[in-house]
Amino acid sequence: MFVDARTFNDDHVERADVCIFGSGPAGMTLAYELSNSGSRVLLIEAGALSYEGWSQDLYKGDVVGDTYYDLSEARLRMFGGTSNHWGGRCLPLDAHDFEAHPDFPQTGWPISRDDLMPYLQAACDIVEIPNDFSETLYSPSVRKTTVHYSPPVRFGDKYMDHCETSQMLRVCLETALTDLVPEGGAIKSARVKTQGGSSWRVEATNFVLCLGGIENSRILLWMDASHNHALDGNRDVIGRYWMEHPFANLADVIIDTPGDGFFADGEATFALTREAQYAAGILNAGLQLTEDSYGEGTKALIADLMCAAPALGERLMRAYGKELVCGARLQSHWEQAPVRQNRVRLGQNRDALGIPTVELHWRRSETDRRTATQSARIFAKDIAQKDLGRARLMQWIRKDAPIPDQGMMAGWHHIGGTRMSDSPSDGVVDRNLKVHGLDNLYIGGSSVFPSGGYANPTLTIVQLSLRLSAHLAELM
Ligand SMILES: Cc1cc2nc3c(=O)[nH]c(=O)nc-3n(C[C@H](O)[C@H](O)[C@H](O)COP(=O)(O)OP(=O)(O)OC[C@H]3O[C@@H](n4cnc5c(N)ncnc54)[C@H](O)[C@@H]3O)c2cc1C
Repeated sequence: MFVDARTFNDDHVERADVCIFGSGPAGMTLAYELSNSGSRVLLIEAGALSYEGWSQDLYKGDVVGDTYYDLSEARLRMFGGTSNHWGGRCLPLDAHDFEAHPDFPQTGWPISRDDLMPYLQAACDIVEIPNDFSETLYSPSVRKTTVHYSPPVRFGDKYMDHCETSQMLRVCLETALTDLVPEGGAIKSARVKTQGGSSWRVEATNFVLCLGGIENSRILLWMDASHNHALDGNRDVIGRYWMEHPFANLADVIIDTPGDGFFADGEATFALTREAQYAAGILNAGLQLTEDSYGEGTKALIADLMCAAPALGERLMRAYGKELVCGARLQSHWEQAPVRQNRVRLGQNRDALGIPTVELHWRRSETDRRTATQSARIFAKDIAQKDLGRARLMQWIRKDAPIPDQGMMAGWHHIGGTRMSDSPSDGVVDRNLKVHGLDNLYIGGSSVFPSGGYANPTLTIVQLSLRLSAHLAELM
């Protein structure tokens, strides 16, 4: 049920088995599952039912490094979180995304894809997509993968009835977590502030931060700073190894006789095989072809071929006229290398609640550039050798230039900062998502990913929340 927290005074204490902060895909999935499994759940959401400027302003922050989105636009601070404007693109991580890449020691998870597999069907049901992910070898080094689009599910709308009617779930809106009070190796209580109201406390057996891929780090850093370095063991890792999925246009492509089912809704997604990726010494990259048959890029590519390889150009031109070849744009969202210097830090300014604003340090590395350019080159070479089509790489790739700054520079995916690790010196949460060194504080969301693959993160976020829910239910 929704609870009007504006009626609470400063002495008020809410008690629960599990207190979850944040109602996006991570927090809402957890709240729904745990309240259905018999736990008394308190869900604290900073935003209102709909978008409010005063709430969104609390997400303002600074970016240091490469051009990145305005932080107050890169996520939504309201009921249902950023799912209120996600695109719904879903695919699971690859099995090798969980393994440490031989050339990049900071990659790899302490768990494997098999640990998340039992939750894939339920996660697909939640985001309302079929669970029929498969891949086929398209050329010796390139595999074609399956992508699905959620309607997209808005997590606030989807679970509104449950939030209104469940006797096991209490939901406080417009109430922000402002402090976590540690004592004796556990969180004793949390302090929250209701918009235009009081600052009151929560006591719970377990607390879970599901504040999104930037705020999880911010609140932990703030807690550590304001409680005499309570997170002593892993303090130096909090906020670090923050990642995105960088984005760029890679090539104009002609696919020879794509055939029925090649494109789904005008899109086909590829990735290198694990072997090709490791041989090239690069990370994982999604190679997304978007149909654009009559675009300028396609015409220019055929015109180029008419000069460079007249016989092939003429054949393709004839086939193009009969709609047997298809023009497309090749773009990529790819895996970013985990780099220690890319991090969430506390800035010099404070927000209206008195918490230091975020300073996000984000730069794309040479590894990031190579992952995109090498993936594109291997794709282009393979389809030419197999006579499946032709690709004309973008000028920045042909000239080995830096990744160009364009309107879209990354996927709006906030990964890392509270990474999962077996050892406190390498990460912030353990394999059960519990913060190292604190008995009852857990974290949900993509901030726990130690490496990000190329898959859009929300399906994996939901799988992790289902797994965390099963773990917490077992402890109850
Ligand atoms: C434009 C856009 C398009 C996207 N498209 C896709 C896509 O196609 N596929 C995909 O997989 N992902 C996509 N994403 C990413 C996706 O939205 C996120 O992965 C997902 O929403 C993360 O879920 P979350 O619950 O961890 O965080 P969020 O959804 O950000 O939820 C965090 C919640 O915490 C609340 N909160 C924050 N601070 C506090 C506080 N102090 N106290 C209490 N509550 C607080 C917020 O109000 C919010 O409700 C997209 C994102 C954007 C911005």
